[in-house]
Amino acid sequence: MDLILTFHSLDTSGSVISYSPDDFRQVVEGLLEEGVALVGMDELLRDEGQADQPRALLTFDDGFSSVHEHALPLLAELGVPALLYVVTGWVGRTNRWPTQGAGAPEFDLMDWSQLRELQAAGIELGSHTVEHPHLADLEEGDLERELASSKRSLEDELQQAVRHFSYPYGTYRSSTTEAVRKHYNTATTTDMRWLGTGDDPLLLPRVDAYYLREPKRWAPIFGARTRTYLKGRAVLRNVAGHLRT
Ligand SMILES: [Zn+2]
Repeated sequence: MDLILTFHSLDTSGSVISYSPDDFRQVVEGLLEEGVALVGMDELLRDEGQADQPRALLTFDDGFSSVHEHALPLLAELGVPALLYVVTGWVGRTNRWPTQGAGAPEFDLMDWSQLRELQAAGIELGSHTVEHPHLADLEEGDLERELASSKRSLEDELQQAVRHFSYPYGTYRSSTTEAVRKHYNTATTTDMRWLGTGDDPLLLPRVDAYYLREPKRWAPIFGARTRTYLKGRAVLRNVAGHLRT
């Protein structure tokens, strides 16, 4: 059984995109105590659904400075890999991109030197576009630019191939996915479930850590009780999502 977890900012503000640094440590240590292998994206996909040991991948969207402050030391100490998705047009700035809601909390984003420190510690960097737009709203040329130039910036800055992508807001159309497929090997969504065999690597599901706040309450995360809880939350979320559209 395999799971991809999503984090955004690691801070104590309690915002919808915030996860407390202490709770983050508890999740990481708790998963290791449960016997879950924390792996990178390549290893996760290598034997999807076949591995003897349950596995999880930690992902971070947007590239907040708080990840450099709180996750980097812990993950480096434990030798745990992770994957962080960068909004390349906003590196060294804050998350005030044009599509950001007025009520959203504003936090600092890492600069390139901080991102390189993550890279050196074994945290892989992927693309989360240039401007964090709703990709499903874009015309083909703009979509192509968001995908290609974010990849190019990352590869120029990091001197390493960039193969992984995350859809801003989790929104896409089938044409979006086909465009992403031309540039990247994998892409993650906000489709809230465990990985299954035969998942399209360009449409990988993830569970937002928002639903696992107070991690002691949800331990073991791979246990039947928490799996049932998350399934219920996913159903509610889908219903709410359909009502909005
Ligand atoms: Zn994002």
